[in-house]
Amino acid sequence: MDKDFREEFTEVIKFTPPLYKQRYQFVKDLVEKYKPKKVADLGCADCRLLWMLKFCSCIEVLAGLDICASVMKEKMHTLSPLPVDYLQPSERSLTVTLHHGSIAHKDPCMLGFDFVTCIELIEHLEESELKKFPEVVFGFMAPSIVVISTPNSEFNPLLPGVVLYRHPDHKFEWNQAQFQSWALDAAKCYDYSVEFTGVGHPPAGMENVGFCTQIGVFVRKYPQTGESVLSEKPPEAVYKTVFKAVYPSLKDEKYLQNAVVSEVIFTAQNIKHHLMSKLEKDDDDDPERKSRFQPSVDYFSDYLRKLVVDQTMEPFVSGNEVCIPLVTIFSFPKVNRLCGTFEKLCKLIAGKVPLSSDGSAVVFNTEHENE
Ligand code: SAH
Repeated sequence: MDKDFREEFTEVIKFTPPLYKQRYQFVKDLVEKYKPKKVADLGCADCRLLWMLKFCSCIEVLAGLDICASVMKEKMHTLSPLPVDYLQPSERSLTVTLHHGSIAHKDPCMLGFDFVTCIELIEHLEESELKKFPEVVFGFMAPSIVVISTPNSEFNPLLPGVVLYRHPDHKFEWNQAQFQSWALDAAKCYDYSVEFTGVGHPPAGMENVGFCTQIGVFVRKYPQTGESVLSEKPPEAVYKTVFKAVYPSLKDEKYLQNAVVSEVIFTAQNIKHHLMSKLEKDDDDDPERKSRFQPSVDYFSDYLRKLVVDQTMEPFVSGNEVCIPLVTIFSFPKVNRLCGTFEKLCKLIAGKVPLSSDGSAVVFNTEHENE
């Protein structure tokens, strides 16, 4: 590389967004593309990538592994559920776990993942660890996708202040040919295909230098998971679990019940409110019409009017009670989506919501507005 040209760039190279964010975004985009359910981040350090990934709605199991427990513990609290997660439990289930251990060892807790990321990990591995890495990741874990990123040493002369390696803990840094040859060997050996890309574009006119961070995306060629093809008996557990968070989810019956009961009461209160205000405003003399639900122009009443196709669905006032048929409440989209079936709705609200004696309607007293 021309020395003057190089010096000109050592002053100006600055990635926006910063390179580590571009790497994380690259992984996130790939997760959005492949929609894996179980994702593991190997060499997860301070859990920043895991934190980003917990917002990907396809992921149900998220795990991190690092040889350094203290770095993982620094920010692991950011992986805990927030109050809002309890107030509005998500429809998906999500479990986040952090393990302390080395990627050079096999542990059964690493089986069953669909998608594995190793971002800026391999260059931190000792020679003996690097040797075991392909067997553990591609042979034992055998996920359908593996993403590996590592510095491209050909870019180093463009980075200010880099003498030998970019980080004092790096054991090596490879040029493009070295990384690609290692990756192609591993892919061939374990029946994966691999494609090369990267983040951090070189300056115009220096494209041959390649990306600042080189990335290999490995796709397993055969369909089974590592778990199902495991011929030997699974190894003993060697990792230590340092963190586990189970997020509240509507898949859990107790959160689903809370959500359904709240939604049923909210819907029934709304119907009651509209019915009562309609009756109050109604100056029609007809006593028959007066006690029946009347449509009005506002959205809610309009919706109810469309809904009430037969008389059994009509809310009505009887004495000092308002009765809102459960079938009417069940036809509201949110209630319907939460419960799935009418039988499930009845089961979830039994004993939690005031019902008519035959259990077919929610009953509220007309006199106590705020009950
Ligand atoms: N993936 C993170 C961190 C990269 S630094 C990011 O992109 O920001 C590499 C990390 O790998 C460090 O946290 C280091 O502790 C961890 N590491 C090094 N050797 C390891 C090994 N044998 N097994 C698991 N993790 C290891």
